[in-house]
Amino acid sequence: VKFADFGLAPEIQRALTDQGYVHPTPIQAKAIPILLQGRDVMGAAQTGTGKTASFSLPIIQLLLAHANTSMSPARHPVRALVLAPTRELAVQVAENVAAYCKHTPLRSTVVFGGMDMKPQTEKLRSGVEIVIATPGRLLDHVEQKNISLGQVQMLVMDEADRMLDMGFLPDLQRIINLLPKKRQNLMFSATFSPEIKKLASSFLTDPITIEV
Ligand code: AMP
Repeated sequence: VKFADFGLAPEIQRALTDQGYVHPTPIQAKAIPILLQGRDVMGAAQTGTGKTASFSLPIIQLLLAHANTSMSPARHPVRALVLAPTRELAVQVAENVAAYCKHTPLRSTVVFGGMDMKPQTEKLRSGVEIVIATPGRLLDHVEQKNISLGQVQMLVMDEADRMLDMGFLPDLQRIINLLPKKRQNLMFSATFSPEIKKLASSFLTDPITIEV
C-alpha cells in the first residue's frame, strides 16, 4: 500500500512527499480508508505507530471537500476538534496537522492550559477550521465565547485512556454536549479498559474497531 492509493487531494499528497512519507504505517493503512468513508472509529494504538496522521489526513481530506477560502472569520467555523490529555501531546498533534495542511487553505491552532489566554484567543477569533485542545482550556475559551463548537463535524479523542486517568471525563461530557449530534467520532486509546469501552459506547456511533 502507498499513500497515493488513498486518493488524497494533491495538496495533502505534496505535504506527505515533503515529510518523506511513502508507505502508510499499519494503523494508517487500516484507519484512513474507513475514516474517509465517514465511519466512526475506535483505534487501539500507542504513540509512535503513526496514529496522528491516521486521523489528521482524513480530517483534512474531508474538510477540503467543503473548503471555504474566504478570509472572514465567520466563514472559518471550527469544523474539526482534536482533544488531547496534555500540552505536550496537543502541541505535537498540532505540529503534525500544520505540516499536513501547509499546502491547503485550512487553518489550525492549538490551545492548552498553563499559558496566557490572549494569544490563543486572538488566533481562535481570527478563524480556524481545526482546533487541537486540552479539555479544560477549551472549556475556558467556550465560556469566554472565544470559540463556538456548533459546527464541529469531526471529533477526535486522542489518548482517551489518559484523559480518563487524568479525570477529564466530566469535561469531555460537557464538551460533547456542545457539539452537533450529527458528526464523525474517532477515539484512540492505548488500552481498552471497561471504562474506555463505556466511553466509546456512549459517544461513538456504530464504530469500527482497529487494532495494530
Ligand atoms: P505518531 O505515532 O503519530 O506520534 O507518529 C510517530 C512518528 O512517525 C512521527 O514522528 C511521524 O512524523 C512519523 N510518521 C508517521 N507516519 C509515518 C509514515 N507513514 N512514514 C514515515 N514516518 C511516519
